[in-house]
Amino acid sequence: MPTSEDSPATPTPPVRGLQRSEAQQRAALLRVQEYDVTLDLASSEETFGSLTRITLDSQAGETFLDLKPTAVRSIHLDGAPLDVDTLRAGRLPLSLTEGRHELVVDAVMPFRNDGEGLHRSVDPADGRHYVYGMSFMDAAPSIFACFDQPDLKAPYTFHVRAPEDWVVIGNAPGTNPEPGVWELERSQPLSTYFVTLVAGPYHLVRDEHDGIALGLSARQSIAADLERDADELFTMTKQCFDEFHRLFDIRYPFGDYHQAFVPEFNAGAMENPGCVTFRDPLVFTSKVTRAVRIQRATTVAHEMAHQWFGNITTPLWWDDLWLNESFAEYMGVRVTADVTEYDDAWVQNSFARRQWGLVADQRPSTHPVAGNGEEDALAALQNFDGISYAKGSSILKQLAARLGDDVFLAGVRDHLTRHRFGNATMHDLFDSWTRAGAGGFGRFSGDWLVTAGPDRIRLDRIAGELVRTPPAEHPADRSHALRLATAPAGGDWSETPVEVAGERTPVEVPTGQAVLIDPWEDTWAVCEPDELTLALLPGLVATTTDPMVRAGAWNSVRSGFHHAEVAPDAVVDLAEAWLPVETQDSGLTYTVPWLLRSAVPLAGDPAEAASRLHRVALSAAQAHEPGSTLQLGTVQAAVATAADPALLRGWLLGRDLPDGLEPDLELRWRIWVRLAVLGETDREELDAALAAEPTAVSRVEHTRAVASMPTVAAKEFALERFTGAVSVPNYELEAAGTGMWRESQRALLEPYVERYAHGLAAAAAAHSGWVQADVAEDFFPTCMVGDEAMALLAPLRTDERLPAPVRRRLVDAVDQLERRNAVAARFPALAARASLGGAG
Ligand SMILES: [Zn+2]
Repeated sequence: MPTSEDSPATPTPPVRGLQRSEAQQRAALLRVQEYDVTLDLASSEETFGSLTRITLDSQAGETFLDLKPTAVRSIHLDGAPLDVDTLRAGRLPLSLTEGRHELVVDAVMPFRNDGEGLHRSVDPADGRHYVYGMSFMDAAPSIFACFDQPDLKAPYTFHVRAPEDWVVIGNAPGTNPEPGVWELERSQPLSTYFVTLVAGPYHLVRDEHDGIALGLSARQSIAADLERDADELFTMTKQCFDEFHRLFDIRYPFGDYHQAFVPEFNAGAMENPGCVTFRDPLVFTSKVTRAVRIQRATTVAHEMAHQWFGNITTPLWWDDLWLNESFAEYMGVRVTADVTEYDDAWVQNSFARRQWGLVADQRPSTHPVAGNGEEDALAALQNFDGISYAKGSSILKQLAARLGDDVFLAGVRDHLTRHRFGNATMHDLFDSWTRAGAGGFGRFSGDWLVTAGPDRIRLDRIAGELVRTPPAEHPADRSHALRLATAPAGGDWSETPVEVAGERTPVEVPTGQAVLIDPWEDTWAVCEPDELTLALLPGLVATTTDPMVRAGAWNSVRSGFHHAEVAPDAVVDLAEAWLPVETQDSGLTYTVPWLLRSAVPLAGDPAEAASRLHRVALSAAQAHEPGSTLQLGTVQAAVATAADPALLRGWLLGRDLPDGLEPDLELRWRIWVRLAVLGETDREELDAALAAEPTAVSRVEHTRAVASMPTVAAKEFALERFTGAVSVPNYELEAAGTGMWRESQRALLEPYVERYAHGLAAAAAAHSGWVQADVAEDFFPTCMVGDEAMALLAPLRTDERLPAPVRRRLVDAVDQLERRNAVAARFPALAARASLGGAG
């Protein structure tokens, strides 16, 4: 077991998934008619029985079955036993004759604890066990024997035996004929990656809308929290169903619609037909900002969009999976803004997602939205990033604007109708759009979908021109239809449409006015502020009534900072003016953490910068309406920037908090984490806080707080989780990693850069699945500027001992450090002073 940096790195075999050519051969050979799956979840806490009966039609030929069991009891093909010892690396070779066959696999499968397969976990609050299935993207064979590729769809019938106090929900409606026995109806044809099962003593809430049975579920220990939000969740689900039915004109075909909030889920959610799974921190156990509620609402709508786009019609191969995500991301925000109470969803999206996409698109690892040409299923997973979601969504939004909504939607309907319960490609969709009256997809696809990287658009004030610069590594000649926002000092913004084509586009800009390029996100480009605009912005934020313009201003400034064109102190000046006047808590929720990570530590005097932000956050919290989420957002900012332990200790006890605010569990943990960073708490106090309320939230935040303390013991605590010496669930792992590295503790953390670099190969080997690459990113020494750290970290990008997904994350993480060093180099006096310490 690797325990420290001295352990030899275990070489990891290259991770290889299903190859496209293998999938094509198998799809040409066989059709799966039906899966009948019997699972026994009641006999053990470590494994479960899995009996799969597959009916298929085949040509004569050689192929293989996917199966990742703990043990195989027997395999029969048309009644004759097969040699189970031929199972190698999850594949069982099959020799098929032409015609109908029945394959029966009786196996024992492992309950997993990495968020994939059938994940089983224990609720720390009450010791109850919960199970859910996550088949995406290659985990189905660790639940049942199958032909695991997206284009071999078949209906499923599940029979489940479970402990008697459990409920079982799957992709199709079910009954519970006797205690512990669950029979699910035959489902519609599904890809293997959609198959799920949610089983355990879950708390259920039910409703109905337009003939569709609706359900919500969560752990018993958060039942009251689910009940409190059930009305909001059901209401938006109903509103979204009505809107999707109107937009697509195709009835939801998967029976019931259940939304299960499940523990330790890796992603935000998974769109399994009829039974969507969500990470259960989305059941709010404390008061949250509106931004966080919008995030949940757009996730709900995103997964609903997938029921049509992705679940009815599914990509033929993983290289088109971007289209699923881009489409669901676009529709999720659009429908949330159009029909739910969250009509400001596009503002939240601008604050939360724009930079995620733009930064990803400027990394060395950038890739085209479409046609990444991925031949390997597992490699394709690494492209689930800001490009596939935020950029792809932006491109589809542009397309809808250019085609007109009628043509856009008519093409989508045609696509979903032609390929109902089947599979299709991007080109099939383009054909549908062409049939609907659109044209010119060659140009559109070439400009936006198959060429990586964003253009930079800047204002040359002297020439009176917008200057468009395509990325040097990815030459392109894109035109941009966008709007400029211009405003005189202290005045109102006005908008001017511009068509940017060619390298230079003349624009009329009134002398002395601030100019924001594309704040309404009509196009996809990096638009930095010029010097005059940057100087005017702090004076303009108070009179900027359009929240998209404020979000656009921040995206512009963040882009400038990313390119070391905007000084950290200019960012802090803007933040100080803006924080008290921001009217959307989305701005605070997503901008303040960025400020504290990026600009504040590199400011002339980081402690003073943090203190300035703390002062304005505090007075804003007093000024905002008591009990408002805006007040909560400013208090969260005040906690994160606090340097006075007495103030924090008072708040912990509910003393001197702004009116209308309670120190609920989440706020108390925010305070404990801040006290930990400041070195103003100890392990004993944190352990006592966990023991007093041992919930899932507490466990994660306790880990974050302990790892945040400025002590060797705290950093060793974090590293034990990194190396796998202490095995913890995914959320605690993330909290240990991101808690460990603190700006104000750089001297203490110096030796840990080497520990990270030398221990990474063993750490990667100690973790599996999605978590493996996450652990490399979460524990990366993000705050350690300087040549020494770079010399240790940069070579990891090409270290062949590391799995490819880990190296990909390192490419991005090292790029971020280089950007940071560039800011320090461009503003050297500031960076030199910043190294003396500052805000954590
Ligand atoms: Zn999605």
